[in-house]
Amino acid sequence: MRDCPICQHSQGVKTVERFAGGEFFECSSCGLHYANTETGNLTQYYREIWSEGHLGQRPYEEKMRAALEPARLEGLLREIPRYSWAVSQFRRLSRGASVLDVGCGEGGLLWAARKLGLEPHGCDLSPGAVDLARRLVGDDAVYLGTILDLPCEAQKFDCIVALEVLEHLPEVRPFVERMTWLLKPGGILLLTTPNRNRVFAVAKRALGRPHSNTDYPPHHFTRWSTAVLGGLLGEYYQDVRVGSLRYYFHHAVGRVLSYPIHAATFGRMGQSLCARAGRPRIAR
Ligand SMILES: [Zn+2]
Repeated sequence: MRDCPICQHSQGVKTVERFAGGEFFECSSCGLHYANTETGNLTQYYREIWSEGHLGQRPYEEKMRAALEPARLEGLLREIPRYSWAVSQFRRLSRGASVLDVGCGEGGLLWAARKLGLEPHGCDLSPGAVDLARRLVGDDAVYLGTILDLPCEAQKFDCIVALEVLEHLPEVRPFVERMTWLLKPGGILLLTTPNRNRVFAVAKRALGRPHSNTDYPPHHFTRWSTAVLGGLLGEYYQDVRVGSLRYYFHHAVGRVLSYPIHAATFGRMGQSLCARAGRPRIAR
C-alpha cells in the first residue's frame, strides 16, 4: 500500500474510488486523494502522448496543431483559462524577468512570455513537445528532461509556472522542493491542477459515475482540493492564494456558458485550481 505522497501517512486511509489496477485513497491526515497503484514507465507514456497518436487525448492534438500556427496559438492562449490566467500573472512581472515553464509542452506559454518581454525557459520530458517548443522560442530555451535534472543553479528564476503538471506526478514533494530551490527569494510560483470539486465531477460522482475520463493512472496520480493544495504550498511559501478557473469548452456555446456556470458556484467549483505562491520560507 502506498503512503500519502504529501505526508507519508498510511494509517486510516479511506478508499474513495476503485479503478482497474488500483484505487484512490483519501489521506485522513492531509486530505489528498492519491492513487494506490503501480507507476509504470512514465517517460514512455509522455513520449507517446506528444505524438501523432496522442493516446486519444484531444488537448495534446489541439496544442500540437497550434504550435505550428501562430494565429491558432493566440486563440488558445486567450481561450484556455489556465493560459489566460498565467499570461495575466506574467503581466505583473518586470520586463526581462526569467520564467521557467515546467512541463512546457508545445511551448505556447513560453512564446507568450517572450512576447511580453520576459526571458523564457522551459523543460519537458517529451522529445516531440520539446521540438515544437524549440521551434517557437529557440533551441537553448528548452531543456529535454524534467525539472529534477534541469542543469541549473539555485535561485535562478523570477517566476516558475507549472500548469496541470502536479497531478501527473506520483511523487509530489521532490517537485515542489525543486521549484522552491530554483526560485529567487522574491520569486513567484504559479500552479494549476484539476479541481476534484469541479462542478461536473461532483455531479457525476453523485450519480455514481467515474468523475472524469482522465483522472486515473498513468495520466493522473493525485486529486486536489483548494484546502489540500493551499496546505501543501503553505509549508513552503508565506503568501499563498488558491482559486479556481472556469471551464474550458471546445464549443463556442460552451465557452459562453462557462461564465455563468462559474459564477453560480461562486468561482469555487471551476475546472482547475490556480495557485499563486510567493515569499519562499526557506529554499530547500
Ligand atoms: Zn496526506
